[in-house]
Amino acid sequence: MKKISVAIDGPAGAGKSSVAKTAASVLGYVYIDTGAMYRSVAVYAIENGIDIAGERQRLIKCLGDIDISLRNDGGRQTVYLNDVDVTERIRTADASMGASAVAVIPEVREKLVSEQKAMARDGGVIMDGRDIGTSVLPGAELKIYLTASVAERAKRRYNENIERGMECDYDEIERDVRKRDENDMTREVSPLRKADDAVLLDTSDMTFDEVVGAVTDMIREREADVL
Ligand code: C5P
Repeated sequence: MKKISVAIDGPAGAGKSSVAKTAASVLGYVYIDTGAMYRSVAVYAIENGIDIAGERQRLIKCLGDIDISLRNDGGRQTVYLNDVDVTERIRTADASMGASAVAVIPEVREKLVSEQKAMARDGGVIMDGRDIGTSVLPGAELKIYLTASVAERAKRRYNENIERGMECDYDEIERDVRKRDENDMTREVSPLRKADDAVLLDTSDMTFDEVVGAVTDMIREREADVL
C-alpha cells in the first residue's frame, strides 16, 4: 500500500501529538511534531535573553544559528536544539507561551515551514500543527482538523503534565489554552483554521483509543483510494 501524507491541525491540547504519534507507530509512518519546532525557537530566545515581543529583529538575525532536529532515539521522539536535547525543556509553560509569540513572526514561519516541507518530501508522514493543511502540506492526501472543548483540552493537558511529574495548576492551564487559542486564531500570518478539505473530528466525548482508531481508519481508507 502506498503511504500518504497526513496533515493534522487543531487548537492547543486537542490531543494532536499523542494521536499522531500513536497512529504513526501503528501504521509505520514518520511523525513530525511542528509545534516542537516553534517551541525550540522560543527556548533559544529565552536562553539567549531575547525578549521575543520587544526584540523581534534581534531574534530574526539569529535564525540562521538555530538548528532544530527531530530525532527518534530508539523509539523515543527527541528534540535537539543546536545539538542539545531540549525534549523536556520545550514543554514548560514559558516555552508554550513563547512558541505562540514566535509563531506570529513571518521570518520564523518561513524558516520552519520550509524545513517542514523538506522533511515531508518523501511522503509517509503524519505532521501535526496549526497550518499544515492550509500552508505546509496543502496537497496532503488526508487532512484532519482535530478539536475538543476548552475545558476538555485543559483537563487533558493538566493530566499530561501530572503524568510527567510536572507541578501545575488547572486554572492556569485553562487560561493558557484560551490565550493560545486567541493568539493562534487571530494572528495575521497563517492563523489556525480548518482547511476547506479537512475532516473535522471533535474528540470532546471520545476516548484516546477511539480517536486513534478513527484516524488510522481514515488513513487506511485514503491509502486504498490513492492506490
Ligand atoms: O502544538 P504545540 O502546542 O506544541 O505548539 C506550540 C505553539 O506553536 C502553538 O501554540 C502555535 O502558536 C505554534 N505553532 C504554529 N504552527 C504550527 C505548530 C505550532 O504556529 N504548525
